[in-house]
Amino acid sequence: MNRRTAILAAAAGLGRLAEAEEVRTSGVVIEVTFDPGEFDVGKQRILEWVSRAASAVAAYYGRFPVTMARLHIRPLAGRDGVRHGVTFGSTPASTRISVGEHTTEAQLRDDWVLTHEFVHMGFPSLARRHHWLEEGLATYVEPIARVQAGQLKPERLWADLVRDIPQGEPQPGDNGLDRTRSWANTYWGGALFCFDADVRIREATHNRYGLQHALRGILAAGGNIETEWPVARALEAGDRAVGVPVLSRLYEERKDTPVPVDLASLWRRLGVIPSSGSLTFDNHAPLAGIRRAITARLPAG
Ligand SMILES: [Zn+2]
Repeated sequence: MNRRTAILAAAAGLGRLAEAEEVRTSGVVIEVTFDPGEFDVGKQRILEWVSRAASAVAAYYGRFPVTMARLHIRPLAGRDGVRHGVTFGSTPASTRISVGEHTTEAQLRDDWVLTHEFVHMGFPSLARRHHWLEEGLATYVEPIARVQAGQLKPERLWADLVRDIPQGEPQPGDNGLDRTRSWANTYWGGALFCFDADVRIREATHNRYGLQHALRGILAAGGNIETEWPVARALEAGDRAVGVPVLSRLYEERKDTPVPVDLASLWRRLGVIPSSGSLTFDNHAPLAGIRRAITARLPAG
């Protein structure tokens, strides 16, 4: 990480002067601006947290999805923890995030929100009705990127997935992913689509390729958040990268038809064995190699 202090007008256009810092890591320059406020941990720890999130996302995609990004941090007085984040498909790509002034170093180390926001930068902007795919990807990829970067234990990833992803199963009255209305179905319905697609791509390619390769292919074709693509173009670019049309077919099947996923069978086949309060792995399960490949660090290029 490398940084330089400059004085820039705040992007918010409020006429206020904000101090800007630069975080340089993994081939990206992130211009970080702050609203007025003081962090207990100091600004340096905040910038290290930005660098960690950017490195995890860069490791996942093989490079950071854009070469220049903006990050605007809003300190929250009297609060702790990383709160709300939102990422925009502007040029350059930009994220706005709220962080409690009393946030601890441990909370920064455990944070998922900023990684989630940066994952958004590696996929094209889609029409509103495909919002579930943008959110689902960020939700599914974020912990994988952190495990691959050594920032999260695989046990924690799988335990969280077992706990949370069932919220993405279709509910009575659902009409398929493109007509998703609820929060749970936007985030977890999308994540379930991505998880299912990941396992299917790996099964179809004898575990040579997974969703990660498809996403790198989309990015290599120019599909980052600064561009707006039809969903079919993105999915086809992903399919092309892995040589099997899993993403396009799964989307056609589920865009306006609710299709449940047999999660119990997936956990069993992957060798993910939930037990009270913890989780163990069965390395003799038929898809144990796929489970390991999902969280293995993939070299760049
Ligand atoms: Zn998001």
